[in-house]
Amino acid sequence: METLLHLAHTESDGSLGKAALEALRVALRLKRELGDARFVCGLVGADARRAAERLARSGAERVFAIEGEDFRPSRYASDRAAAEAIVRSAGATIVVAPGTSRWNRALPGASQRLGGRTDTHVVAAEASDGKIAVSRWFYRQRIHGTLERTSRPWFLLIEPGAEPPVGEGELARDAAPIEGIEVALPEEARRTRVLRIEEPAPDEQTIRPDAKLLFVAGAGWTKKQADGKTHVPEAENLILEFLRRTKASLGSTKSLVDLQGEGQAALRFLTHLHQVGQTGSTPRHPKGLATCCHGEEPHVVGWRFIGERRAVNIDPACGWTRGKADVVYVADAFQVLAELNRTLAEEAERRAGS
Ligand SMILES: Cc1cc2nc3c(=O)[nH]c(=O)nc-3n(C[C@H](O)[C@H](O)[C@H](O)COP(=O)(O)OP(=O)(O)OC[C@H]3O[C@@H](n4cnc5c(N)ncnc54)[C@H](O)[C@@H]3O)c2cc1C
Repeated sequence: METLLHLAHTESDGSLGKAALEALRVALRLKRELGDARFVCGLVGADARRAAERLARSGAERVFAIEGEDFRPSRYASDRAAAEAIVRSAGATIVVAPGTSRWNRALPGASQRLGGRTDTHVVAAEASDGKIAVSRWFYRQRIHGTLERTSRPWFLLIEPGAEPPVGEGELARDAAPIEGIEVALPEEARRTRVLRIEEPAPDEQTIRPDAKLLFVAGAGWTKKQADGKTHVPEAENLILEFLRRTKASLGSTKSLVDLQGEGQAALRFLTHLHQVGQTGSTPRHPKGLATCCHGEEPHVVGWRFIGERRAVNIDPACGWTRGKADVVYVADAFQVLAELNRTLAEEAERRAGS
């Protein structure tokens, strides 16, 4: 009989993150499909007990919590030791965990020490006839594969966004008791002190995985325009205003982010983390709008999970018009964005006035 463990960590404010609740849905489905599996939960973090109260109402038989200041920051050595202790206490054979950067770093180490196996970026997991099969993409999202394993414990890191989170209304009233586990900090954890986290202010952060819209900027924003001149500062202002007003997530083409390295005029707020495509990211958003971007295959392959695709390009023969977008506006993106920003500003004023 399998023992399913849903293993999560708290966020820096002590809450349970969305990705943890998404992974919980996968674990609950596996439990239902396996029928006779045991189901337990584990939580690591500074205020783990408080957040674990929610997991305790998920139908779990037992809930384990490891808490304390030593487990507040994301740190490989303490996270790895905590995960290992919970898996041992639970006697887990299948570990379902959110694929956050914190767990993606620590859980493969715990799995290795337990003689287990890990699969990351899992987008689906199902069980039939007592066998579990998981799916993930390979080769930069070009090949979709399904695999089974006999090795245990088997760690499944669930890709954030692959499932809807379990809502409060789906949880039971009765809660399992929460069992605290004491873990001795390993020597390497004592050597590594987390002093502070440096991150941009929330408004400066332009990669927003939960945004409804992906806005992609292409190299055209920095190219000579009809008047024979470039207009990079104007492009920056237009794009930043649009992002501020819509809270869209910003993506870029490779050509545009590479410009900086070549010493050419580029949009200052772009980094390689914004790059979408074959050698970039494959974000998931309901809608996407590409501007000044040619729509070449190595870029468009990164749009695999974008629901509705639109593009603005001055060239009616660009790649988007060849079946890669649902709607293409053959227009000057400078004019389109200026008009959009004007409309958004008017709407915001109307809403503020009413
Ligand atoms: C192995 C490999 C991997 C790659 N991986 C990636 C990847 O991960 N991601 C990626 O993006 N690319 C990738 N590329 C590069 C890719 O092939 C393209 O070169 C790149 O996507 C082109 O970027 P772009 O569309 O911004 O620039 P360009 O091709 O220069 O296109 C600029 C576009 O802007 C339009 N334009 C100009 N002015 C305006 C205006 N005022 N209004 C509207 N439109 C305007 C032009 O008509 C043009 O279509 C890869 C290439 C290779 C070989």
